[in-house]
Amino acid sequence: MSESNRSFFGCGFDDERTFDLDDYGDVVARWCGGCGDHGVLAAVKRLMRDEQMVPERTVFVSGIGCSSRFPHYLNTYGFHGIHGRALPVATGIKLSRPDLDVFAVMGDGDCCSIGAGHWLHATRYNVDMTALMLDNAIYGLTKNQTSPTTPQGYKTNTQPRGSFLPALNPISTSLGVTNVSFVAQTADWVPMHLLETLRAAHRHPGFSFVRILQRCPKFTAPLFAEQARTPDMHELLVHPAGVNVPGLEKIYKRRLEHDPSDLARARSLSEDGERIRLGVFYRDDSLPRYDDIRHLPTFTARENIDRLNLELDRYAV
Ligand code: SF4
Ligand code: MG
Repeated sequence: MSESNRSFFGCGFDDERTFDLDDYGDVVARWCGGCGDHGVLAAVKRLMRDEQMVPERTVFVSGIGCSSRFPHYLNTYGFHGIHGRALPVATGIKLSRPDLDVFAVMGDGDCCSIGAGHWLHATRYNVDMTALMLDNAIYGLTKNQTSPTTPQGYKTNTQPRGSFLPALNPISTSLGVTNVSFVAQTADWVPMHLLETLRAAHRHPGFSFVRILQRCPKFTAPLFAEQARTPDMHELLVHPAGVNVPGLEKIYKRRLEHDPSDLARARSLSEDGERIRLGVFYRDDSLPRYDDIRHLPTFTARENIDRLNLELDRYAV
């Protein structure tokens, strides 16, 4: 969040409290055992503790899906909304209260299907908030329906002979939107990379989109099991302006230098599906942000009343 936002309405981060992990929530989450959502929640809490985010100045907005239970497990403000609508709600909150730290948490069905229109426009509007898309490649909460990111041929309840279409690529889709400013990919099974990606996204001034590959042992276990235990199936995108985790290269040995200011290369890397690429594909901190450039009326209440009376007088008989 930008410094100017911190001081909006005089709400500076001036209190002397310090926060521990438990201050951000100590409820036992009701996701299945082994679900990747647990790891994402742990990383989010760690980020909040590290950055000393003030719980009552932080908001988590979600749509519908397993991952959308997120706001229930955090001691921040939260809004568990309706399917696909996390982003417009989060945008509205950020525009009316720019002093708040706003996160949107969505699933793959939530973001890439019913919420897809909102996703594109939130990307273009580039309002300063962090969007997490937890991608388990299935509709999990509603029990195993094909989602836009389900791989072609994967059997589900709605397409029992296998998903018909090639899966949508959320990274290349995001990278194709005008004014896109931050796109990264990480995975729940690489916890330090997950944490550092969340940190980079949160610090980015603009709309940060993070796709988190997320294990769902209930419905898509075969899709992620091998990846999660095979570091060589991954390739880390490394650059000083990206995500760098000291020591991770000892386990994840495949690394690729990628300057995240290079949009054309980011697009090309996102399309090449040979390995799972983790890191920041693209970032540009200088792009216009709707919350920054929009023109708000600056009238006082008295001026508003005078202007209203003037308008009414025009139609007076
Ligand atoms: Fe997690 Fe899948 Fe269970 Fe949902 S159904 S809680 S995504 S393991
Ligand atoms: Mg899903």
